[in-house]
Amino acid sequence: MKYHKKKINIGFIDKIIQKFLHNHNSPIHTRFPPEPNGYLHIGHAKSIFLNFEIAKNYNGKCNLRFDDTNPIKENIKYIHSIKRDIQWLGYQWYKETKYASQYFQKMYEYAIELIKKKLAYVDQLNQLEIRKYRGTLEKGGINSPYRNQTIEKNLILFQDMKEGKIKEGQACLRAKINMNSACIIMRDPVLYRIKFKKHHQTKNKWCIYPTYDFAHCISDAIEGITHSLCTLEFQDNKKLYNWILDNINIKHHPTQHEYSRLNLEYSVLSKRKLQILIDNNIVKDWNDPRMPTLSGLRKRGYTPTAIKNFCNKIGITKQNNLIEMQILESCIRKELNQIAYRTMAILNPIKVIIYNLPKNYEQKINILNHPKNLQFGKRKIHFTNEIYIEKSDFQEKGNNKYKRLVLGGTVKLKYSCFITAQYIQKDKNQNIKKIFCTYQIINKINYKKYGIIHWISKKNTMQAEFRLYNHIFNIKNPDIKKNILSYINQQSKIIKYGLIHKSITKNLMIKFYQFERIGYFCIDKNFCSNKKIIFHRTVTLKENWNT
Ligand code: ATP
Ligand code: MG
Repeated sequence: MKYHKKKINIGFIDKIIQKFLHNHNSPIHTRFPPEPNGYLHIGHAKSIFLNFEIAKNYNGKCNLRFDDTNPIKENIKYIHSIKRDIQWLGYQWYKETKYASQYFQKMYEYAIELIKKKLAYVDQLNQLEIRKYRGTLEKGGINSPYRNQTIEKNLILFQDMKEGKIKEGQACLRAKINMNSACIIMRDPVLYRIKFKKHHQTKNKWCIYPTYDFAHCISDAIEGITHSLCTLEFQDNKKLYNWILDNINIKHHPTQHEYSRLNLEYSVLSKRKLQILIDNNIVKDWNDPRMPTLSGLRKRGYTPTAIKNFCNKIGITKQNNLIEMQILESCIRKELNQIAYRTMAILNPIKVIIYNLPKNYEQKINILNHPKNLQFGKRKIHFTNEIYIEKSDFQEKGNNKYKRLVLGGTVKLKYSCFITAQYIQKDKNQNIKKIFCTYQIINKINYKKYGIIHWISKKNTMQAEFRLYNHIFNIKNPDIKKNILSYINQQSKIIKYGLIHKSITKNLMIKFYQFERIGYFCIDKNFCSNKKIIFHRTVTLKENWNT
């Protein structure tokens, strides 16, 4: 088979694919198989990237198949959100969306085939007994008393299960493999269970549902998947995957390959754990900008390109490790550096009056919207005798290292002149209210001596809300802790009410900004009128700048 030159970093999988293409005359076919029981997170992005990029780079196909075998946890709203997130990343699946539930009838027939081959039986032990009989790593299991029922009896009971004649938990279909297998998964795994729950696709047609293990390999085989790529925890399930396909009459037999899942510092990447954060009001919802979900990252200002670059950077291996948050952040920083409009904003304003300038003084200054890309154009700002600077850019008495404004000291206002702080006015609580400065002429040779601060003129400013985000957790690896709620960073969201230039509301098509010296922000498109405007901080300008 002909294929494009490799452009993606997929580690050992690349060799597997090259070998396949060398030996076969058929295209690669992968799939992304989410359970519709939650929103996608950055871990899923790793899997999406892998499966879709393989298809893209090697002239292959990639299916989107919902692994919808557990109607109790599933919901149609997750199907919509998952599709939206995949498309947002820029991928389109092959032909129509697939569902494991599409194949329920075929799976049922394969189950009958196994019963008829004496390779499956209806067990009437309850869940607790099944667990007890299964044994442990040290101890083999015990055969169920129902294991050697006749084929006829099994067929009748399985029919009864299907017809809703048996209560939930009172019977299940199990593969007859080996209760003494060293691999616990092979100790007569459950293939079908009873669930009286309406399914979002098949409605009330079924009250028995196949397990993940039974459904997954059959769905892969029916769809002609060549490479079934999954995470390392399914290594043992591979034996069962192959056992099922070897024992039913199905032509195609995909190969399963495992890779390590993504673990990311200061995050949990499991839908169940993310749900805990929502249930305990730590975050508002799945798309809270602090969540490592794709919808959360999107709201925070992450772009598909940055996420895909991140996936490519971390690559695919078989070693479980914890990926540094800095890697993800550096990917978005790199992109925003190229696409964000530069402007000045003040998060903690303090007023500066330049009293040696006339009251109605106004100087228009033309500045570039991007220092390196002229296509971003220019904007006009006004320098007047009343401006705002950042509270943190002024100290009454700064030491030698403090390169900003101190009483009696001088700084340069970015894009403008030098000012010297002469005296201050405080309120009755001793908080500084105003800084009185003079405009200063400085000899060009001395320019470098002075610090540069950003500012915003009183003219044409408006209030804006700035949401500053930090890690949700205060430890690097919360995922291994029993109670993740004990490690919540109480400062994960800080809200500031500051000032921006009004002109921002005139061009709401611009989404990404770099507020100079502060960070990269994106506009919340639900709050961007001239009455209320909200900015989410995507990332700080440099590493370890969290506030
Ligand atoms: P979760 O633990 O979040 O519930 P899951 O594995 O149950 O994840 P699925 O919807 O079954 O979620 O996942 C779809 C695909 O995404 C699977 O192939 C799964 O292996 C992969 N996947 C899930 N989490 C990660 C991760 N952290 N890193 C890489 N791949 C992942
Ligand atoms: Mg899963």
